[in-house]
Amino acid sequence: MSWHKMVIKVGTSTLTAGTGQLSAPRMLDLVRQIAALRTQGTDVVLVTSGAQQAGRERLGASCEGQHIPTKQMLAAIGQGRLMHLWDEYFDLYGMLAAQVLLTRQDIDDRSRYLNVRDTFDSLLERRIVPIVNENDAVATEEIKVGENDSLSAMVAILVEADLLVLLSDIDGLYTADPFHWPEARLIERVEHIDRSIYELAGDSRSEYGTGGMYTKIAAADMATRSGTEVVIANGAREGILTSLMDRTQPATWFPARVTLAEGRKRWLLAQKVVAGMVTIDAGAERAIVSSGRSLLPAGILQVTGDFERGAFIGVRTESGEVARGLSNYSSAGICRILGHRSGSIAELLGYDYGPEVIHRDKMVILS
Ligand code: GLU
Repeated sequence: MSWHKMVIKVGTSTLTAGTGQLSAPRMLDLVRQIAALRTQGTDVVLVTSGAQQAGRERLGASCEGQHIPTKQMLAAIGQGRLMHLWDEYFDLYGMLAAQVLLTRQDIDDRSRYLNVRDTFDSLLERRIVPIVNENDAVATEEIKVGENDSLSAMVAILVEADLLVLLSDIDGLYTADPFHWPEARLIERVEHIDRSIYELAGDSRSEYGTGGMYTKIAAADMATRSGTEVVIANGAREGILTSLMDRTQPATWFPARVTLAEGRKRWLLAQKVVAGMVTIDAGAERAIVSSGRSLLPAGILQVTGDFERGAFIGVRTESGEVARGLSNYSSAGICRILGHRSGSIAELLGYDYGPEVIHRDKMVILS
């Protein structure tokens, strides 16, 4: 079995290979493995830390501490450098890399969520590797995700990855701290993440990164609930990424608790209030309910409510509500395109977010 879409998170301690400086051999080795995964047909999204580290290297060691504006400055200096390195290394392997910098709002806010998802989809369709980091230069503490373990879980959910790989400087989760307890055992599989699992993580923090085992468990918790399998593995091990498939190296696996389709359905059903409603004709009802297709503007008769792109809306026929989903267009936009063929959307609106008013992947049928 191979994975369709993988999110790989590398932290600063993996990228520095314990040297205190971004390590070119380490980064190149990761790129080589990602290239191998790609030839097996796996789409990869890379979530990378190291911006502040790169900034620190540029400025010299004179800038330490927890002062937020200083950290923002370091990230602003270092992100370009970090991206430049990735870009160059991916280029050596004939791959194109693209930078995606996110803040929490991009994920929380519905219309921005859809926009970001579209960006990822377009990049992956063209086989370009999205390289993600938090936009530290502008994200202040209150609005930050704060560390890339959580950010990578959010990205995995956003792109509906089937595997999230959290690379660490340790093989995985142990029964006790292996640096203090030689008898500590690696836990190879965690079926349920409960309090006892969080307790095992303690408050472990590595020297250079922001996360630790605790944030990795929290990320695994979040992602497995949405249908993504998670693995914590040691980024320093030779060929770690390419060996995941045959599971020949030590690691801790967290199986997904639901399928991706169930995760999506649950997420949609958890949205309680609809911002508006579209009424559709019998042809559109057959297409979405019986054939599992997307909702196109041609089958829409009427729109009610005042909503923005990304709003959660209901879909009804004469006899009642049949579906719910995230709208690709605002109510004002739908008003102008309803009854028309999708091909004329750009002409009618002057912009185009795709042929569907609600894509079938963002819709749940109520039955
Ligand atoms: N975004 C931060 C950076 O690139 C790192 C966050 C983390 O270590 O998780 O420097």
